[in-house]
Amino acid sequence: MSGTAFILDGYVDEPACLGVPPYISPYIRTVAGALLEHHFTVRYLTIDQLRKEPLRTADLNKADLLVMIAGVTVPGKYLGGTPVTLTEIQQVGHMVHGPRKLIGGPVGFGYAAEGGQQAIRQVISGFDALLAGEPAVALDNYLRGNDPAGLLDYTRTDPWSIAGSSVISQHPGYPFVMCELETARGCSHGATGGCSFCTEPFYGMPRYRGIAGIAAEVAALHTHGARHFRVGRQPDILAYGAGAGEYPAPEPAKVEALFSAIRAAAPDLKTLHIDNTNPATITRHEEKAREALRAIIRHHSSGDVAAFGMETADPAVVAANNLKANADEVFRAIEIVNEEGGKRRDNVPELLPGINFVCGLAGETEKTYELNEQFLDRVLKAGLSIRRVNIRQVMPFEGTPAFTSNTLGRHDRRFRQFKEFVRTRIDLPMLQMVFPIGTVLRDVLVEVSGDLSFGRQMGSYPILVGVPLRLPVRTVTDVVVVDWGMRSVTALPVPVRINELPASVLRWLPGIGKKKVAAVIAKRPFRDIEAYRKVAGKSAIDAVLQF
Ligand code: SF4
Repeated sequence: MSGTAFILDGYVDEPACLGVPPYISPYIRTVAGALLEHHFTVRYLTIDQLRKEPLRTADLNKADLLVMIAGVTVPGKYLGGTPVTLTEIQQVGHMVHGPRKLIGGPVGFGYAAEGGQQAIRQVISGFDALLAGEPAVALDNYLRGNDPAGLLDYTRTDPWSIAGSSVISQHPGYPFVMCELETARGCSHGATGGCSFCTEPFYGMPRYRGIAGIAAEVAALHTHGARHFRVGRQPDILAYGAGAGEYPAPEPAKVEALFSAIRAAAPDLKTLHIDNTNPATITRHEEKAREALRAIIRHHSSGDVAAFGMETADPAVVAANNLKANADEVFRAIEIVNEEGGKRRDNVPELLPGINFVCGLAGETEKTYELNEQFLDRVLKAGLSIRRVNIRQVMPFEGTPAFTSNTLGRHDRRFRQFKEFVRTRIDLPMLQMVFPIGTVLRDVLVEVSGDLSFGRQMGSYPILVGVPLRLPVRTVTDVVVVDWGMRSVTALPVPVRINELPASVLRWLPGIGKKKVAAVIAKRPFRDIEAYRKVAGKSAIDAVLQF
Protein backbone atom coordinates (compact mmCIF):
# COMPACT_ATOMS: atom_id res chain seq x y z
CA MET A 1 0.00 0.00 0.00
CA SER A 2 1.28 3.51 -0.79
CA GLY A 3 -0.02 6.85 -2.05
CA THR A 4 -1.01 9.81 0.09
CA ALA A 5 -1.37 9.45 3.83
CA PHE A 6 -2.82 12.07 6.11
CA ILE A 7 -1.85 12.28 9.75
CA LEU A 8 -4.76 13.91 11.55
CA ASP A 9 -3.46 15.25 14.85
CA GLY A 10 -6.19 15.14 17.49
CA TYR A 11 -3.47 15.99 20.06
CA VAL A 12 -2.28 14.01 23.05
CA ASP A 13 -1.75 14.90 26.68
CA GLU A 14 -0.41 12.24 29.03
CA PRO A 15 1.31 12.42 32.42
CA ALA A 16 4.62 12.30 30.53
CA CYS A 17 3.91 13.59 27.04
CA LEU A 18 2.34 16.71 25.56
CA GLY A 19 1.26 17.19 21.97
CA VAL A 20 -1.17 20.14 22.08
CA PRO A 21 0.06 23.13 19.99
CA PRO A 22 2.54 24.66 20.08
CA TYR A 23 3.76 21.17 21.04
CA ILE A 24 4.07 18.36 18.54
CA SER A 25 4.26 14.90 20.07
CA PRO A 26 6.87 12.26 19.21
CA TYR A 27 4.02 9.98 18.02
CA ILE A 28 3.33 12.27 15.07
CA ARG A 29 6.96 12.28 13.98
CA THR A 30 7.53 8.53 14.28
CA VAL A 31 4.26 7.79 12.48
CA ALA A 32 5.35 10.16 9.70
CA GLY A 33 8.66 8.30 9.48
CA ALA A 34 6.97 4.91 9.30
CA LEU A 35 4.68 6.19 6.52
CA LEU A 36 7.67 7.53 4.59
CA GLU A 37 9.36 4.16 4.90
CA HIS A 38 6.30 2.69 3.20
CA HIS A 39 6.64 5.28 0.41
CA PHE A 40 3.62 7.36 1.33
CA THR A 41 3.47 11.05 0.63
CA VAL A 42 2.81 12.38 4.14
CA ARG A 43 0.41 15.22 4.81
CA TYR A 44 -0.34 16.59 8.24
CA LEU A 45 -3.50 18.26 9.48
CA THR A 46 -4.55 19.24 12.99
CA ILE A 47 -8.04 18.86 14.37
CA ASP A 48 -8.17 22.65 14.83
CA GLN A 49 -7.45 23.17 11.13
CA LEU A 50 -10.22 20.73 10.27
CA ARG A 51 -12.67 22.48 12.61
CA LYS A 52 -11.85 25.82 11.01
CA GLU A 53 -11.98 24.52 7.46
CA PRO A 54 -14.37 21.55 7.33
CA LEU A 55 -13.99 21.51 3.54
CA ARG A 56 -10.55 20.00 4.11
CA THR A 57 -12.53 16.76 4.56
CA ALA A 58 -12.45 16.61 0.75
CA ASP A 59 -8.62 16.34 0.92
CA LEU A 60 -8.94 13.55 3.45
CA ASN A 61 -11.44 11.73 1.21
CA LYS A 62 -8.91 11.72 -1.63
CA ALA A 63 -6.14 10.20 0.51
CA ASP A 64 -5.24 6.53 0.58
CA LEU A 65 -4.68 6.33 4.30
CA LEU A 66 -5.71 8.39 7.32
CA VAL A 67 -3.91 7.97 10.65
CA MET A 68 -5.42 9.84 13.57
CA ILE A 69 -3.39 10.31 16.74
CA ALA A 70 -5.35 11.30 19.85
CA GLY A 71 -5.82 10.82 23.56
CA VAL A 72 -5.86 12.90 26.71
CA THR A 73 -5.15 10.99 29.90
CA VAL A 74 -4.60 14.01 32.13
CA PRO A 75 -7.08 16.86 32.11
CA GLY A 76 -5.68 20.21 31.02
CA LYS A 77 -6.58 23.68 29.77
CA TYR A 78 -4.92 24.83 26.58
CA LEU A 79 -4.48 28.09 24.75
CA GLY A 80 -2.85 26.73 21.60
CA GLY A 81 -5.41 24.13 20.57
CA THR A 82 -8.34 21.98 21.68
CA PRO A 83 -7.93 18.21 21.77
CA VAL A 84 -10.34 16.21 19.68
CA THR A 85 -13.54 15.07 21.39
CA LEU A 86 -14.95 11.57 21.18
CA THR A 87 -17.83 12.89 19.08
CA GLU A 88 -15.40 14.46 16.62
CA ILE A 89 -13.44 11.21 16.41
CA GLN A 90 -16.62 9.34 15.54
CA GLN A 91 -17.55 12.06 13.02
CA VAL A 92 -14.20 11.69 11.28
CA GLY A 93 -14.69 7.92 11.31
CA HIS A 94 -18.10 8.14 9.68
CA MET A 95 -17.78 11.21 7.45
CA VAL A 96 -14.42 10.58 5.83
CA HIS A 97 -14.85 8.17 2.96
CA GLY A 98 -12.09 6.91 0.75
CA PRO A 99 -8.97 6.27 2.78
CA ARG A 100 -8.40 3.42 5.12
CA LYS A 101 -8.71 4.92 8.59
CA LEU A 102 -6.57 4.06 11.59
CA ILE A 103 -6.50 5.60 15.03
CA GLY A 104 -3.80 5.37 17.68
CA GLY A 105 -2.29 7.03 20.72
CA PRO A 106 -3.39 7.15 24.35
CA VAL A 107 -7.05 7.27 23.24
CA GLY A 108 -6.66 3.48 23.36
CA PHE A 109 -6.56 3.75 27.18
CA GLY A 110 -10.01 5.36 27.30
CA TYR A 111 -11.76 8.69 26.94
CA ALA A 112 -13.31 11.28 29.28
CA ALA A 113 -14.44 14.75 28.30
CA GLU A 114 -12.78 16.43 31.30
CA GLY A 115 -11.20 15.98 34.72
CA GLY A 116 -13.57 14.62 37.34
CA GLN A 117 -15.07 12.12 34.91
CA GLN A 118 -14.27 8.46 34.52
CA ALA A 119 -12.40 7.58 31.36
CA ILE A 120 -13.95 4.55 29.75
CA ARG A 121 -12.42 2.41 27.02
CA GLN A 122 -14.55 3.16 24.00
CA VAL A 123 -15.30 1.20 20.90
CA ILE A 124 -14.34 3.73 18.24
CA SER A 125 -16.59 3.11 15.28
CA GLY A 126 -15.91 4.21 11.73
CA PHE A 127 -12.21 3.35 11.78
CA ASP A 128 -10.70 0.30 10.14
CA ALA A 129 -8.36 -0.42 13.01
CA LEU A 130 -7.09 0.78 16.37
CA LEU A 131 -3.30 0.96 16.44
CA ALA A 132 -2.73 -0.84 19.73
CA GLY A 133 0.42 -0.09 21.72
CA GLU A 134 3.07 2.06 20.11
CA PRO A 135 1.33 3.81 17.19
CA ALA A 136 4.26 3.82 14.72
CA VAL A 137 5.20 0.18 15.38
CA ALA A 138 1.55 -0.90 15.16
CA LEU A 139 1.18 1.06 11.91
CA ASP A 140 4.28 -0.52 10.41
CA ASN A 141 3.01 -3.98 11.37
CA TYR A 142 -0.39 -3.20 9.84
CA LEU A 143 1.19 -1.97 6.59
CA ARG A 144 3.16 -5.22 6.44
CA GLY A 145 -0.07 -7.18 6.62
CA ASN A 146 0.17 -8.08 10.30
CA ASP A 147 -2.02 -7.20 13.29
CA PRO A 148 -2.21 -3.43 13.94
CA ALA A 149 -0.43 -3.78 17.26
CA GLY A 150 3.11 -3.43 18.51
CA LEU A 151 5.26 -2.54 21.47
CA LEU A 152 7.69 0.33 21.74
CA ASP A 153 11.04 -0.59 20.28
CA TYR A 154 13.53 2.27 19.98
CA THR A 155 15.58 0.36 17.39
CA ARG A 156 12.53 0.65 15.13
CA THR A 157 11.21 4.07 16.13
CA ASP A 158 14.55 5.96 16.21
CA PRO A 159 15.06 5.85 12.41
CA TRP A 160 11.42 6.85 11.88
CA SER A 161 11.81 9.80 14.25
CA ILE A 162 14.66 11.04 12.04
CA ALA A 163 12.89 10.42 8.74
CA GLY A 164 9.61 11.86 10.06
CA SER A 165 11.15 15.05 11.45
CA SER A 166 10.31 16.89 8.22
CA VAL A 167 6.61 16.74 9.16
CA ILE A 168 7.07 19.66 11.57
CA SER A 169 7.24 22.08 8.62
CA GLN A 170 3.55 21.28 7.92
CA HIS A 171 2.52 22.25 11.45
CA PRO A 172 0.30 25.36 11.33
CA GLY A 173 2.42 27.01 14.01
CA TYR A 174 5.72 26.37 12.21
CA PRO A 175 8.39 27.56 12.94
CA PHE A 176 6.94 28.15 16.40
CA VAL A 177 6.65 24.48 17.17
CA MET A 178 7.79 22.90 20.40
CA CYS A 179 9.21 19.46 19.71
CA GLU A 180 8.45 17.16 22.64
CA LEU A 181 11.45 14.84 22.90
CA GLU A 182 11.25 11.31 24.17
CA THR A 183 14.01 9.98 26.40
CA ALA A 184 12.15 7.25 28.30
CA ARG A 185 8.88 5.42 28.55
CA GLY A 186 7.39 3.82 31.67
CA CYS A 187 7.79 4.60 35.35
CA SER A 188 10.06 3.10 38.01
CA HIS A 189 7.42 3.77 40.68
CA GLY A 190 5.41 1.18 38.76
CA ALA A 191 7.55 -1.36 40.68
CA THR A 192 5.03 -0.97 43.49
CA GLY A 193 2.06 -0.37 41.21
CA GLY A 194 2.59 3.35 40.55
CA CYS A 195 0.43 6.26 41.66
CA SER A 196 -3.20 5.20 41.76
CA PHE A 197 -4.44 7.51 39.02
CA CYS A 198 -1.58 7.42 36.54
CA THR A 199 -1.51 5.80 33.11
CA GLU A 200 2.28 5.83 32.72
CA PRO A 201 2.69 2.45 34.50
CA PHE A 202 0.67 0.97 31.60
CA TYR A 203 3.95 1.31 29.66
CA GLY A 204 5.79 -0.87 32.21
CA MET A 205 9.13 -0.25 33.89
CA PRO A 206 11.27 2.47 32.31
CA ARG A 207 13.08 1.95 29.05
CA TYR A 208 15.60 4.66 28.27
CA ARG A 209 16.24 5.84 24.78
CA GLY A 210 19.90 6.01 23.72
CA ILE A 211 21.59 9.40 23.42
CA ALA A 212 22.73 8.72 19.84
CA GLY A 213 19.14 8.22 18.67
CA ILE A 214 17.88 11.30 20.52
CA ALA A 215 20.72 13.48 19.19
CA ALA A 216 20.22 12.24 15.63
CA GLU A 217 16.53 13.09 15.83
CA VAL A 218 17.27 16.54 17.26
CA ALA A 219 19.79 17.18 14.46
CA ALA A 220 17.19 16.19 11.86
CA LEU A 221 14.54 18.38 13.48
CA HIS A 222 17.01 21.26 13.62
CA THR A 223 17.77 20.81 9.92
CA HIS A 224 14.04 21.12 9.25
CA GLY A 225 13.83 24.38 11.18
CA ALA A 226 13.05 23.27 14.74
CA ARG A 227 14.37 25.72 17.32
CA HIS A 228 12.26 24.84 20.34
CA PHE A 229 12.64 21.60 22.25
CA ARG A 230 11.28 20.17 25.46
CA VAL A 231 12.73 17.03 26.94
CA GLY A 232 9.30 16.09 28.21
CA ARG A 233 8.41 12.56 27.19
CA GLN A 234 9.55 10.78 30.35
CA PRO A 235 8.23 10.63 33.93
CA ASP A 236 11.48 11.82 35.58
CA ILE A 237 14.28 13.48 33.65
CA LEU A 238 16.66 13.24 36.61
CA ALA A 239 16.44 9.45 36.42
CA TYR A 240 17.56 9.38 32.77
CA GLY A 241 19.59 6.20 32.23
CA ALA A 242 19.40 5.31 35.94
CA GLY A 243 19.52 1.78 37.29
CA ALA A 244 16.78 -0.50 38.53
CA GLY A 245 14.51 0.00 41.53
CA GLU A 246 11.62 2.17 42.47
CA TYR A 247 13.67 5.30 43.21
CA PRO A 248 16.90 4.91 41.23
CA ALA A 249 19.71 7.36 41.91
CA PRO A 250 20.38 9.90 39.15
CA GLU A 251 23.42 9.41 37.00
CA PRO A 252 24.53 13.00 36.42
CA ALA A 253 27.11 12.04 33.79
CA LYS A 254 24.33 10.59 31.63
CA VAL A 255 22.15 13.66 32.08
CA GLU A 256 25.13 15.85 31.17
CA ALA A 257 25.86 13.73 28.09
CA LEU A 258 22.20 13.86 27.02
CA PHE A 259 21.81 17.62 27.29
CA SER A 260 25.19 18.45 25.80
CA ALA A 261 24.41 16.13 22.86
CA ILE A 262 21.11 17.92 22.27
CA ARG A 263 22.87 21.29 22.34
CA ALA A 264 25.52 20.08 19.91
CA ALA A 265 22.88 18.63 17.58
CA ALA A 266 20.88 21.87 17.50
CA PRO A 267 23.39 24.71 17.76
CA ASP A 268 20.79 27.38 16.91
CA LEU A 269 18.14 26.18 19.32
CA LYS A 270 16.27 28.87 21.21
CA THR A 271 14.40 26.80 23.78
CA LEU A 272 15.57 23.71 25.63
CA HIS A 273 13.32 22.92 28.57
CA ILE A 274 12.32 19.98 30.73
CA ASP A 275 9.09 18.80 32.32
CA ASN A 276 8.51 16.04 34.88
CA THR A 277 10.87 15.58 37.76
CA ASN A 278 10.18 13.21 40.62
CA PRO A 279 10.64 15.13 43.91
CA ALA A 280 11.43 11.84 45.69
CA THR A 281 14.43 11.35 43.38
CA ILE A 282 15.73 14.74 44.52
CA THR A 283 15.31 14.21 48.25
CA ARG A 284 16.41 10.59 48.34
CA HIS A 285 19.54 11.25 46.29
CA GLU A 286 20.22 14.89 47.03
CA GLU A 287 23.84 15.22 45.88
CA LYS A 288 23.40 13.31 42.65
CA ALA A 289 20.17 15.14 41.94
CA ARG A 290 21.90 18.47 42.48
CA GLU A 291 24.62 17.47 40.02
CA ALA A 292 22.02 16.37 37.48
CA LEU A 293 20.11 19.64 37.93
CA ARG A 294 23.33 21.58 37.36
CA ALA A 295 23.98 19.59 34.18
CA ILE A 296 20.54 20.54 32.88
CA ILE A 297 21.04 24.19 33.83
CA ARG A 298 24.39 24.25 32.01
CA HIS A 299 22.72 23.38 28.72
CA HIS A 300 19.07 24.42 28.86
CA SER A 301 17.50 27.81 28.25
CA SER A 302 16.33 29.85 31.24
CA GLY A 303 12.72 30.15 32.41
CA ASP A 304 12.60 26.37 32.72
CA VAL A 305 10.20 24.42 34.94
CA ALA A 306 10.66 21.13 36.81
CA ALA A 307 7.11 19.86 37.26
CA PHE A 308 6.52 17.94 40.49
CA GLY A 309 3.54 15.62 40.67
CA MET A 310 2.83 16.30 44.33
CA GLU A 311 -0.92 15.60 44.11
CA THR A 312 -1.62 16.18 47.83
CA ALA A 313 -0.11 17.28 51.13
CA ASP A 314 -2.28 14.83 53.07
CA PRO A 315 -0.31 11.78 54.30
CA ALA A 316 -3.51 9.71 54.35
CA VAL A 317 -4.06 10.40 50.64
CA VAL A 318 -0.39 9.72 49.88
CA ALA A 319 -0.73 6.31 51.56
CA ALA A 320 -4.11 5.44 50.04
CA ASN A 321 -2.87 6.15 46.51
CA ASN A 322 0.71 4.89 46.69
CA LEU A 323 1.93 8.36 45.76
CA LYS A 324 5.62 8.77 45.09
CA ALA A 325 6.47 11.49 47.61
CA ASN A 326 5.11 12.98 50.83
CA ALA A 327 4.73 16.67 51.62
CA ASP A 328 8.08 17.01 53.44
CA GLU A 329 9.92 15.39 50.55
CA VAL A 330 8.25 17.75 48.10
CA PHE A 331 9.06 20.75 50.31
CA ARG A 332 12.73 19.76 50.47
CA ALA A 333 12.79 19.24 46.68
CA ILE A 334 11.32 22.73 46.21
CA GLU A 335 14.13 24.13 48.37
CA ILE A 336 16.80 22.27 46.41
CA VAL A 337 15.49 23.32 42.99
CA ASN A 338 15.25 26.92 44.21
CA GLU A 339 18.86 26.74 45.40
CA GLU A 340 20.10 25.28 42.14
CA GLY A 341 17.81 27.07 39.69
CA GLY A 342 16.73 30.31 41.36
CA LYS A 343 19.43 32.48 39.79
CA ARG A 344 18.25 34.66 36.92
CA ARG A 345 19.49 34.58 33.34
CA ASP A 346 17.83 36.53 30.54
CA ASN A 347 15.79 38.22 33.30
CA VAL A 348 14.02 35.07 34.50
CA PRO A 349 14.95 32.31 36.96
CA GLU A 350 16.90 29.47 35.38
CA LEU A 351 14.71 26.65 36.70
CA LEU A 352 11.86 26.65 39.19
CA PRO A 353 9.60 23.90 40.43
CA GLY A 354 5.99 23.65 39.32
CA ILE A 355 3.51 21.73 41.48
CA ASN A 356 0.59 19.57 40.42
CA PHE A 357 -2.27 18.77 42.77
CA VAL A 358 -4.80 16.09 41.94
CA CYS A 359 -8.12 16.22 43.78
CA GLY A 360 -10.73 13.52 44.17
CA LEU A 361 -8.25 10.77 45.09
CA ALA A 362 -9.08 7.96 47.50
CA GLY A 363 -8.79 8.91 51.18
CA GLU A 364 -9.42 12.60 50.53
CA THR A 365 -11.37 14.53 53.20
CA GLU A 366 -12.09 18.20 53.88
CA LYS A 367 -8.89 18.19 55.94
CA THR A 368 -6.88 17.30 52.82
CA TYR A 369 -7.63 20.74 51.44
CA GLU A 370 -6.57 22.42 54.68
CA LEU A 371 -3.28 20.54 54.54
CA ASN A 372 -2.78 21.52 50.90
CA GLU A 373 -3.34 25.18 51.76
CA GLN A 374 -1.04 24.99 54.78
CA PHE A 375 1.67 23.45 52.61
CA LEU A 376 1.50 26.24 50.06
CA ASP A 377 1.49 28.85 52.83
CA ARG A 378 4.62 27.23 54.22
CA VAL A 379 6.34 27.45 50.83
CA LEU A 380 5.37 31.10 50.47
CA LYS A 381 6.48 32.01 53.99
CA ALA A 382 9.83 30.30 53.40
CA GLY A 383 10.40 32.71 50.51
CA LEU A 384 10.56 29.86 48.00
CA SER A 385 9.40 30.34 44.42
CA ILE A 386 7.11 28.04 42.50
CA ARG A 387 6.55 28.79 38.86
CA ARG A 388 2.98 27.54 38.84
CA VAL A 389 0.46 25.48 40.79
CA ASN A 390 -1.69 23.19 38.69
CA ILE A 391 -4.91 21.87 40.26
CA ARG A 392 -6.93 19.17 38.58
CA GLN A 393 -9.63 16.70 39.42
CA VAL A 394 -8.64 13.14 38.81
CA MET A 395 -9.66 11.57 35.50
CA PRO A 396 -9.65 7.91 36.51
CA PHE A 397 -8.83 5.43 33.78
CA GLU A 398 -9.99 1.86 33.54
CA GLY A 399 -7.18 -0.35 34.75
CA THR A 400 -5.89 2.13 37.35
CA PRO A 401 -6.81 1.76 41.07
CA ALA A 402 -8.39 5.23 41.00
CA PHE A 403 -11.01 3.97 38.56
CA THR A 404 -12.80 2.08 41.31
CA SER A 405 -11.49 3.96 44.34
CA ASN A 406 -11.80 7.73 44.38
CA THR A 407 -13.73 10.51 46.09
CA LEU A 408 -14.97 12.39 43.03
CA GLY A 409 -18.03 14.51 43.69
CA ARG A 410 -17.66 14.45 47.48
CA HIS A 411 -15.78 17.69 48.08
CA ASP A 412 -16.68 19.84 45.11
CA ARG A 413 -17.30 22.97 47.17
CA ARG A 414 -14.02 22.59 49.01
CA PHE A 415 -12.24 21.89 45.70
CA ARG A 416 -13.50 25.20 44.31
CA GLN A 417 -12.46 27.02 47.51
CA PHE A 418 -8.99 25.51 47.25
CA LYS A 419 -8.65 26.71 43.68
CA GLU A 420 -9.75 30.17 44.72
CA PHE A 421 -7.30 30.13 47.62
CA VAL A 422 -4.44 29.26 45.31
CA ARG A 423 -5.37 31.86 42.69
CA THR A 424 -5.65 34.70 45.17
CA ARG A 425 -3.27 33.81 48.00
CA ILE A 426 -0.51 31.89 46.26
CA ASP A 427 -0.42 32.56 42.51
CA LEU A 428 -0.36 36.33 42.78
CA PRO A 429 2.51 36.66 45.29
CA MET A 430 4.43 33.99 43.36
CA LEU A 431 4.01 35.91 40.12
CA GLN A 432 5.11 39.08 41.85
CA MET A 433 8.25 37.28 43.02
CA VAL A 434 9.08 35.51 39.76
CA PHE A 435 8.09 38.29 37.34
CA PRO A 436 8.53 41.61 39.17
CA ILE A 437 7.48 44.80 37.39
CA GLY A 438 10.18 45.75 34.92
CA THR A 439 11.00 42.12 33.97
CA VAL A 440 11.67 41.95 30.24
CA LEU A 441 10.39 38.73 28.68
CA ARG A 442 12.07 37.92 25.40
CA ASP A 443 10.38 36.63 22.25
CA VAL A 444 6.76 36.48 23.34
CA LEU A 445 4.68 34.95 20.56
CA VAL A 446 1.21 36.45 20.15
CA GLU A 447 -1.39 33.67 19.97
CA VAL A 448 -4.67 35.56 20.41
CA SER A 449 -5.28 39.01 18.94
CA GLY A 450 -7.72 41.59 20.35
CA ASP A 451 -7.87 44.82 22.33
CA LEU A 452 -6.12 42.67 24.87
CA SER A 453 -3.83 40.35 22.95
CA PHE A 454 -2.41 37.19 24.54
CA GLY A 455 0.88 35.54 23.96
CA ARG A 456 3.48 33.33 25.57
CA GLN A 457 7.13 32.52 25.26
CA MET A 458 7.96 29.15 23.81
CA GLY A 459 8.69 26.96 26.79
CA SER A 460 7.60 24.64 29.54
CA TYR A 461 4.56 26.20 31.27
CA PRO A 462 5.24 29.69 29.93
CA ILE A 463 3.52 32.55 31.72
CA LEU A 464 0.47 33.92 29.91
CA VAL A 465 1.15 37.49 28.81
CA GLY A 466 -1.70 39.95 28.22
CA VAL A 467 -0.77 42.97 26.09
CA PRO A 468 -3.38 45.76 26.05
CA LEU A 469 -2.81 46.40 22.35
CA ARG A 470 -4.14 44.80 19.20
CA LEU A 471 -1.17 42.79 17.93
CA PRO A 472 -1.38 40.43 14.97
CA VAL A 473 -1.21 36.73 15.72
CA ARG A 474 2.33 35.32 15.27
CA THR A 475 3.93 38.66 16.18
CA VAL A 476 7.08 37.97 18.19
CA THR A 477 8.04 40.74 20.57
CA ASP A 478 9.96 41.43 23.76
CA VAL A 479 7.69 42.78 26.48
CA VAL A 480 8.09 44.39 29.87
CA VAL A 481 5.91 43.36 32.81
CA VAL A 482 3.77 46.23 34.14
CA ASP A 483 1.14 44.41 36.22
CA TRP A 484 -0.09 40.97 37.27
CA GLY A 485 -3.34 39.18 36.67
CA MET A 486 -4.51 36.03 38.43
CA ARG A 487 -2.42 33.62 36.41
CA SER A 488 -0.92 36.01 33.92
CA VAL A 489 1.09 39.18 33.63
CA THR A 490 0.20 42.39 31.83
CA ALA A 491 3.05 43.61 29.70
CA LEU A 492 3.90 46.11 26.97
CA PRO A 493 6.11 45.70 23.93
CA VAL A 494 9.58 47.16 24.37
CA PRO A 495 10.80 49.75 23.83
CA VAL A 496 7.82 51.53 25.40
CA ARG A 497 7.27 54.60 23.24
CA ILE A 498 5.75 56.99 25.74
CA ASN A 499 5.00 59.71 23.21
CA GLU A 500 2.97 57.41 20.98
CA LEU A 501 0.97 55.13 23.27
CA PRO A 502 -2.83 55.56 23.45
CA ALA A 503 -4.38 56.56 26.79
CA SER A 504 -5.82 53.08 27.24
CA VAL A 505 -2.25 51.74 27.38
CA LEU A 506 -0.62 54.59 29.29
CA ARG A 507 -2.74 53.77 32.32
CA TRP A 508 -0.89 50.47 32.71
CA LEU A 509 2.46 52.16 33.18
CA PRO A 510 3.86 52.08 36.71
CA GLY A 511 3.79 55.59 38.19
CA ILE A 512 0.95 56.73 35.90
CA GLY A 513 -2.20 54.71 36.57
CA LYS A 514 -5.63 56.07 35.72
CA LYS A 515 -5.06 59.30 37.66
CA LYS A 516 -2.06 60.68 35.76
CA VAL A 517 -2.99 59.67 32.22
CA ALA A 518 -4.46 63.07 31.39
CA ALA A 519 -1.40 64.88 32.80
CA VAL A 520 0.97 62.71 30.76
CA ILE A 521 -1.01 63.25 27.57
CA ALA A 522 -1.13 67.01 28.16
CA LYS A 523 2.65 67.19 28.56
CA ARG A 524 3.56 65.00 25.57
CA PRO A 525 5.82 64.86 23.69
CA PHE A 526 8.51 64.32 26.34
CA ARG A 527 12.04 65.08 25.22
CA ASP A 528 13.77 62.70 27.60
CA ILE A 529 13.43 60.60 30.72
CA GLU A 530 14.01 63.60 33.01
CA ALA A 531 11.06 65.47 31.54
CA TYR A 532 8.90 62.37 31.83
CA ARG A 533 9.94 61.72 35.43
CA LYS A 534 8.74 65.15 36.45
CA VAL A 535 5.21 63.91 35.72
CA ALA A 536 5.36 60.18 36.36
CA GLY A 537 8.26 59.81 38.80
CA LYS A 538 10.82 57.00 38.70
CA SER A 539 9.67 53.49 37.87
CA ALA A 540 10.98 49.96 37.38
CA ILE A 541 10.51 50.16 33.63
CA ASP A 542 12.53 53.34 33.00
CA ALA A 543 15.27 51.34 31.27
CA VAL A 544 12.93 50.36 28.42
CA LEU A 545 11.20 53.72 27.87
CA GLN A 546 11.83 55.48 24.57
CA PHE A 547 11.19 59.10 23.69
S1 SF4 B 1 5.66 8.68 39.64
FE1 SF4 B 1 3.46 8.33 39.73
S2 SF4 B 1 2.57 10.08 38.59
FE2 SF4 B 1 4.75 9.99 38.03
S3 SF4 B 1 4.75 8.78 36.17
FE3 SF4 B 1 5.13 7.38 37.89
S4 SF4 B 1 3.14 6.55 38.41
FE4 SF4 B 1 2.83 8.38 37.14
